[in-house]
Amino acid sequence: MGALFLCGDTMIHEAMMAESLNEARAGFAESEVPIGAVVVLNGRVIGKGHNQKERLQDPTAHAEIMAVRDACQNLKSWRLDGASLYTTAEPCLMCLGAALQARVAEIIYGCKEPKFGAVELLESGGFIEYGNHRLAIKGGFCAEECAAILREFFAERRGLGCSPRAE
Ligand SMILES: [Zn+2]
Repeated sequence: MGALFLCGDTMIHEAMMAESLNEARAGFAESEVPIGAVVVLNGRVIGKGHNQKERLQDPTAHAEIMAVRDACQNLKSWRLDGASLYTTAEPCLMCLGAALQARVAEIIYGCKEPKFGAVELLESGGFIEYGNHRLAIKGGFCAEECAAILREFFAERRGLGCSPRAE
């Protein structure tokens, strides 16, 4: 029975990571560092977003923040109790903070983000506990696809003679 649930979880994670990758591709098309995110509640996508830092000239316009904002607007609530936040790359300190503030239940991310990824700073035993909230964190879902789109983006920019800019 446990294995069945595990299998179901993995399928949901992969489907939602595919949605997040679609968002990342939308970012790529807008010349943004291609990171995408979705917020899922009861198996349904209630918010999505991609990195829009350049277009908005806003250092907080990360994919996760955009997805959390979208979900909160749709729910008309800042509380995302029980929701899962999927993101193609390991979240930074700010996005982990936003997930904690929104009472997100879990974060599932794709590839590691060596520069600004902050999970290892805060995570212990698969959780971040902060105040009276407990946020579960799992990484490595569809990590190869998530990393590939970032590699492709930066390779393309180097080809164009642009200096790559980290998210
Ligand atoms: Zn972030």
